[in-house]
Amino acid sequence: MPMGRPKTTESDPSSALVTGGARGIGLEIVRRFLNDGYRVAFVATKANHVQRALESLRAPEDRLGAGVVDVTQQNEVERFVDQIRRRWGEITVLVNNAGISPKRVDQEVPWLSQMSREEWARVIDVNLSGPFSLIRLLAPSMIAKRYGRIINIGSLAGRAVPLIAGPHYAASKAGLIGLTRAAARDLAPHGVTVNCIAPGRILSELTGPAEAAVNRSALSRIPIGRFGTAEEVAHLTSFLASPMAGFITGATIDITGGEFGA
Ligand code: NDP
Repeated sequence: MPMGRPKTTESDPSSALVTGGARGIGLEIVRRFLNDGYRVAFVATKANHVQRALESLRAPEDRLGAGVVDVTQQNEVERFVDQIRRRWGEITVLVNNAGISPKRVDQEVPWLSQMSREEWARVIDVNLSGPFSLIRLLAPSMIAKRYGRIINIGSLAGRAVPLIAGPHYAASKAGLIGLTRAAARDLAPHGVTVNCIAPGRILSELTGPAEAAVNRSALSRIPIGRFGTAEEVAHLTSFLASPMAGFITGATIDITGGEFGA
């Protein structure tokens, strides 16, 4: 059931921006927001993924916008946000979903010792500095409107012992929880809420197929006995984006099937 959006007239729907919206969890958030009545803009890095997503979403141009944008490239991000603002006015909902989780090369060697500084920096840049840049870019107009919703997609790996993720990924997602709290405190007096969602294992291209050994072993640790779905994360995002969630800010909400990490 749609959760509603801040403005209710069909002629002036609110606008949402979702990063990493071309596949996986982000794509389901875009789909859900379209059903909720938002105008939705999304970005991803690969043109063919963006195109495939647009084809699967089948929404009219005045409801859906997309760009090939790397969240670590400030100029690209600013250019895209300017375009969306010119078309639709200010963006009132931001979902920082884009994220990467590089796989390990050699299972026998401790992960930290295999990792170059460049690999570390790239993950921090996409997963943590990307959200920082977007919050910094969009918060002023949310403050001016005295309304905004920012939702960061974190991870169980940022809260518990990361059994599958690397140190760079775990650090980036733990950092996102800190950024969420700091931004929430900063923006709360201005009508803007900032929250983090911490999913456990959700099947997507990032996690690979259910039959993969890493996923079979992950499944054995999930008390509910199944993987989560991108749609379930999208439902939670939709609620946090809605006016009904106005008293929730600075929170990190687990969606893990009861898993708390080892
Ligand atoms: P996917 O790998 O399926 O999709 C990631 C999306 O992010 C893609 O659309 C990708 O673009 C985009 N993206 C990656 N890097 C950038 C970048 N630099 N700039 C813009 N877009 C980028 O991931 P999931 O859907 O599984 O994950 C989504 C989020 O949820 C991530 O933040 C992830 O860490 C988090 N998460 C996922 C879990 C899971 O089990 N799946 C568990 C916990 C957290 P493109 O399509 O062009 O490659």
